[in-house]
Amino acid sequence: MLIVKKFGGTSVADKERIFNVARRCIEDYKKGNDVVVVLSAMGKQTDVLLAQARDINPNPPKREMDMLLTIGEQTSVALMAMAMDSLGVPAVSLNAFQVAMHTTSNYGNARLKRIDTERIRNELESRKIVIVTGFQGIDKADNYTTLGRGGSDTTAVALAAALKADACEIFTDVDGVYTADPRIVKNARKLDEITYDEMLDLASLGAGVLHNRSVEMAKKYGVPLVVRSSLNFSEGTVVREEVNVEKMLVSGVACDKNTARISVIGLEDQPGVAFKLFNHLAKHNINVDIILQSVGRDGTKDISFTVAEDAVEDAVAILERHKQSSLKCDKIDVEKNVAKVSIVGAGMMSNPGVASKMFEALYDVGVNIKMISTSEIRVTVLIDEAHVEKAMNSVHDKFTLGDL
Ligand code: ASP
Ligand code: MG
Repeated sequence: MLIVKKFGGTSVADKERIFNVARRCIEDYKKGNDVVVVLSAMGKQTDVLLAQARDINPNPPKREMDMLLTIGEQTSVALMAMAMDSLGVPAVSLNAFQVAMHTTSNYGNARLKRIDTERIRNELESRKIVIVTGFQGIDKADNYTTLGRGGSDTTAVALAAALKADACEIFTDVDGVYTADPRIVKNARKLDEITYDEMLDLASLGAGVLHNRSVEMAKKYGVPLVVRSSLNFSEGTVVREEVNVEKMLVSGVACDKNTARISVIGLEDQPGVAFKLFNHLAKHNINVDIILQSVGRDGTKDISFTVAEDAVEDAVAILERHKQSSLKCDKIDVEKNVAKVSIVGAGMMSNPGVASKMFEALYDVGVNIKMISTSEIRVTVLIDEAHVEKAMNSVHDKFTLGDL
């Protein structure tokens, strides 16, 4: 078997944990498997590097930022290879350059395009454990790039796809994918399995357990994924196309506080207005999420939408610039203390009434809904950030008692 094993920062945070990971990998290796290990930077190393950079220059050139961040992963893979060597097992660490992991040039948020597998195959052939840096890539001009925070998951899944691995295990500090963040929802429980689509929604909607692009890629290439703990031997959560058990109504509740609402008030009620508005934002690569348009009245209408909180300043500046000329609106209103709470479940497709049950759970605890958006397998509401905890618990427990 060829196994790709990815370990996050907490799993390699110190010497003891590094040896713990080394032993787990060696166990698979000694059974005769080919083992490829993907690592994140140790502990909070990436945050430390980010802070160091900002201290020197609050607005560092993105290329240099990626140049800096790649050393986090390079440190952990080299130390891991040394640990395995000290345990008497041949291992080799490789960075994005040595593998070669080709990406776009979008520094800080690059996308993987192609992975050369020859070097890795050769090393495996000579019976070495191959340890690869997560999160990083190179562009066509040989600059280092990074895949966005949490991107090591995507490195692992991409490698598993490229190498046609038999298994891809994502090790983390929790036992698997939970119905909700156990730090917020006390009755949250671990799922045995979940579909790619559900996982993709949960990951995109704020469940921090997997990088959303890793799930996208796993689905596209049919990579068999398991999320499990590096600190114990429990089974974890399997992510796959179809789950065997009868579909549950709701698999998870997620929340995302990194969101803000912008309302553009008093737009003309005419064709082309929404196009102009969102085109200004799209040109500056600003992602828009929930969109709500009011019914036109007296020749005007309002459009509200959400953006990531770190994009809100840019978005408002762009809209203000076009307020008089092309948008011809009265006012731009912003609210930052909001959060998205979402329920996700493949079972929703065939079961009406799921949304109303969620709204009832919010009503039960007196939480007001500001915006709503839905898809086939998801319902998202925008609420006050201060109400996240009680909203999450109430919604979660409403479905737990019955079907979750
Ligand atoms: N070290 C990177 C980060 O903290 C990538 C990762 O851990 O997946 O975002
Ligand atoms: Mg992660």
